[in-house]
Parts: sequence; C-alpha cells; structure tokens
Amino acid sequence: MPKNRQFRLVRRPHGDPQLDDFALVESQIPAVPVGGFIVRNHFASLDPAQRGWMDDAPSYMPPIPLDSAVTATTVGRVYASANADFSEGDWVLGLNALEDYSVVHPGGFTSKIDVAAVPSPTLFLSGMGAVGLTAYFGLLDGLKPAAGETLLVSGAAGAVGSVVGQIGKIKGCRVIGIAGGADKCKRLINDYGFDVAIDYRGKSMRQLADEIAAAAPNGVDMIFENVGGDVLDAGLMNLAMRARILLCGLISEYNSADGKHGARNLWALIVKRATMQGFLIMDYVPQFGAGGMQVAQWMGEGKIRVDEDVQFGLENAYPAFMRLFSGANTGKLILKI
Ligand code: NDP
Repeated sequence: MPKNRQFRLVRRPHGDPQLDDFALVESQIPAVPVGGFIVRNHFASLDPAQRGWMDDAPSYMPPIPLDSAVTATTVGRVYASANADFSEGDWVLGLNALEDYSVVHPGGFTSKIDVAAVPSPTLFLSGMGAVGLTAYFGLLDGLKPAAGETLLVSGAAGAVGSVVGQIGKIKGCRVIGIAGGADKCKRLINDYGFDVAIDYRGKSMRQLADEIAAAAPNGVDMIFENVGGDVLDAGLMNLAMRARILLCGLISEYNSADGKHGARNLWALIVKRATMQGFLIMDYVPQFGAGGMQVAQWMGEGKIRVDEDVQFGLENAYPAFMRLFSGANTGKLILKI
C-alpha cells in the first residue's frame, strides 16, 4: 500500500525560509470523501506567492496552517473517486498541496485537463496556467498597451516576466527588461526578443535609474512590476507623462525579516500624473478559458516561448523552492513529485 508523503510547514519562516521550517511526513493515503475524490499529484507549481501564504498575515488566501502540507497548484490524476464527474485516471488541475495524494472535496477548485492536446501536462502550470494568464491579463487588461509605447518589465527573465515581454512585443511595444546576471540578460534579448536588457545585480538604485534613462530617454509608459524595492524605485524615476504601473509582485520583499522596503519615489506619480494599481490573477478565473486559448495559440505559432525549470522529488521541495529567491530558476519552476 503506497503512503502519502507530505511536505509540511512546521514553523513560520522569519526572513529566508530555513530547511527546518518544513518536514517531510508520511501518513496513510486519505479516504475518499463523500462526493469527492483523491488526486495523485504528478507536478506541483512552486510560486513566490507560497512564501506569503506561509506567514500568519492577512492576505487574499488564508495562511497555511502549521503542520499542514504547503498549499500548491498541482497537476495529477484521479486515484479514487466518489464523484460522478471525475473518474479514476482523469487528469486534473487544482489548488492542492505539496504531497503525493490530495483530498478534493465536492466543489473544490479542481478542473479536468486535456493532456493529450499538449506536449506536456506541465504546460497547465506554466504557459497555459497562472503564469501565462498573469502575463496575459496583467499586461492586456491591467496596463492596456498601445503600439509604440515603452514597457519596462522587472523580474523579466522569470516565468511571468518573460511572457509579459513577449506579449508586449506582439502588441508593438518597445520592451525593456530588468533581470539578474549576464546570462539572463542575454536570454532576454536572444530568447524572448526584448529590445533592451538591464542587469540589476550589484547596482545602486541611482545606477539602475540611469541605465533605464539611457534605454528610455522619453520615459517609460508602463511598468510591469514583479520585484519592488530598489528596482521599482528606479523605474519610478523614469516615468513618462501619465504612465501606468502594475504591481504584480514584490519578490524582493517576500523574505524581508525587518519590515517592507516600500516604494520611496512615489512623488514621481504626482509629477507625471501616473497611476499605480495592484493585480491579482484570481480575479480573472471566469476568463481563464479565453485567455488560455490565446496564449496557447501564440505558443503554437512560435510567437511566445515558455521555459520550464523542472526539479525532481518531493524530498527536494525545499532546495527547489529556494531557487526562486536565489534566481537559480531558469523558467517556470515546477516540482515533479
Ligand atoms: P520567477 O520565475 O520570476 O522567479 C522569481 C525570480 O525573481 C527569480 O528568478 C529572480 O530572478 C527574481 N528575484 C528573486 N529574489 C529577488 C530579489 N530579492 N530582487 C530582485 N529579483 C529577485 O517567478 P514568477 O514568474 O512565478 O513570479 C514573478 C513575480 O510575479 C513574483 O513577484 C510573484 O509573486 C508575482 N506573481 C503575481 C501574481 C499575481 O496574481 N499578482 C501571479 C503570479 C506571480 P533574477 O535572477 O532576475 O533576480
């Protein structure tokens, strides 16, 4: 009889998550709930947002309870079912956890997926999943780009950022990306078609602001912000009149042990009559079908490249997750369970 291994949160991280904030615990496979089913998870999405869910702080999701498996979006197959709509062997995508087997109660956030239609089931966690959809809706609905405008993307070589830049190019924008290191900057130009790549590592906010100014002498019309901190402050120093800024993520602050850095150059919003708004992909769930089809079409036509960084083994969940914060991941970070 197989066991259920769970990657549990046993202590709330203070600053950078530590190995012993987590424990790999074995238990029995749970019983099938009335009207629900059990999923055998095959792949899990590792997302920066999971770090926020580990804190006991108000958010759009309840905190992960201590001694529970870490919440994660997974792709897997129905293992046992008491639900007429889900049969054994069906492939499903849902909000589950970092564990071998997850319980899905009736009405749980899980849908069937057609893995035969795609080269890999992992695409439902990358291009056709929250990553592609965040880029699609964040850019097109949040920032509403017009051809000829200049778009600045931070975290540009990452899962969301790389797709944002490529959709920006499809829409006729001039796209400037900020990423960490020479290799990632090379990829921005060669693999994702950005016009300009700026390496933020080892630079002060002022130096970064000067490099953005050199790349966009008339200022940037839009910022797709994934990083926050000095990177956001440098972007704010370079706004065009009536610029729009979308706050998608602030990863530089997620592991901050001594409070948030915040944006310090907010005066620029007044000077440039600019607008800054928050964005959450969960608001777009009813439109996922349409957005996913468009992203899939662009991928099929070779207009968008989506890279995946697949790490192996639930027992490696901790080092795999930490790749997001060291910048080691080279594409959408996925754990093959
Ligand atoms: P990525 O694939 O972009 O991986 C994270 C990257 O962030 C790393 O590779 C690293 O790239 C960069 N990074 C990590 N720490 C820092 C730091 N201290 N300063 C600057 N850069 C850092 O992850 P995702 O594409 O999944 O997520 C990108 C952002 O989008 C995150 O902020 C996430 O929270 C947000 N997001 C928001 C959603 C929403 O609905 N609002 C939905 C999905 C994602 P580098 O090597 O370039 O430093």
